[in-house]
Formats: sequence, C-alpha cells, structure tokens
Amino acid sequence: MNAGMVENDRMKKRRIGLMGGTFDPIHHGHLVAAEEARYQFGMEKVIFIPAGIPPHKTRKDISQAWHRFEMTRRAVATNPYFAVSDIEIKREGASYTIDTVRAMGEIYKGWEIFFITGADAVLEILTWKNVVELLEMCCFVAATRPGFKLESLGRKLAHLPQGCLEGIKTLEVPALAISSTDIRLRVWQGRPIKYLLPEAVEEYIYQNKLYLL
Ligand code: ATP
Ligand code: MG
Repeated sequence: MNAGMVENDRMKKRRIGLMGGTFDPIHHGHLVAAEEARYQFGMEKVIFIPAGIPPHKTRKDISQAWHRFEMTRRAVATNPYFAVSDIEIKREGASYTIDTVRAMGEIYKGWEIFFITGADAVLEILTWKNVVELLEMCCFVAATRPGFKLESLGRKLAHLPQGCLEGIKTLEVPALAISSTDIRLRVWQGRPIKYLLPEAVEEYIYQNKLYLL
C-alpha cells in the first residue's frame, strides 16, 4: 500500500461527533455549535453526552443526572443526526473525557471521532491529564463563543507537540451569548427563557420546577 492509498483510506473514514457537557440545561448555543460542526466536518451523527458527576464543576446544586439526560433527549429529538448517550451518567464516580472517548472508540471502531466543545472548554481540557493520549484518539472541534479570543487559544496551545495541534480545529458559530448559568438565573428570577432553548426543554423545566432554589 503506498502513501497515497493510506491517505485515501484515512479520508474515507466515517465521522462521528461527541458533544459532552453538563447540559443544565441544554440550550440553543449547544445545538447550533453541534449542528455547525456536523455540517462543516461531514459527521454522520453527533452524540450528546450529559456528564455524570462533572470533575470540573464545583456547583453543588447541579441538577440530577436524569433531569439533564431527559432535557437533552427532548432537545435532540427533532434532529435526525443527533442522539443522546447515557454512558457518562451510568458510569460510577467522576466522568473523564478520556474514558468516554475510549469507550466510544470501541463502539465506533474505525470511525474518526471528533469531540465538540466550546473554545473555553478546550482551554480547560488542556489542563487535564492524558491530554496527549486524548488527542491521539480524537480531534477537537472548538466552537468560539461570544467574547472569546481565538489568539489566547493559540498561545495556550503553543506548548503542545506539533502533531497535537493538528488535532484541534476551530469553528466559528453564529454568536450566541447563551449560557446555562444565565438560563438558571433567569428561571430563578422569573424572567423569560423562551427562544434561548427548545420549547420542549422550557416546558420540562417548568413542569419539574427546576432552578427555583
Ligand atoms: P454553564 O453556564 O453551567 O457553565 P454552559 O452553557 O457553558 O453551562 P455546558 O454544559 O457547560 O454549558 O457546556 C457544554 C459544552 O458546550 C462546552 O464545551 C461549552 O464550551 C459549550 N457551549 C456552551 N454554551 C455555548 C454557546 N453559547 N456556544 C457554543 N458553545 C457553547
Ligand atoms: Mg460551561
């Protein structure tokens, strides 16, 4: 097999996107970023993976995993390319991205895996252990959030080995200044959340009286 054939083979790999997050609650920022990444990188599907006990979150009043799973399930239901996985919430203890990517690599053998995150989250990831191993297993797609400067990403990445940098792609998504934190605060204050997230998720929040404490 010559080098050209190897390259050809690599290019033909089927592609899948993984979108990890707390999703407390999931909102249109997450959904737009995932859809844009899917389109731009030719992924066959994107799997949303709500985190079990997020190792990097310190907020104590994080909603129960099944609420976050159920909101995510409702949010992705209208997109045939989207799915949700309970792999992290079923796992005991803290969820590490590396374990999730490893497990998904077993299920999707031979596929090219993309891990979709916000650019802010990519900076966090670089502080994690096993980052080099992680970058060997998947590519990262970093969606830029409003107010985030890509140059600072470049500086933070400068210390990584050259091969690693190729595994981090950036993606510009339409500016969406939506965050779960703001949505939770709005619910608590009785301000509207309509149009910030899917209607089915909005209904779920009110029906289950989430974010009122
Ligand atoms: P919180 O405010 O509680 O931190 P969040 O809105 O940042 O919540 P997370 O569940 O923490 O949502 O984020 C999951 C992933 O989605 C992360 O990689 C994050 O960077 C990304 N993300 C969150 N909001 C947006 C947005 N508006 N546009 C693009 N990506 C986003
Ligand atoms: Mg966040």
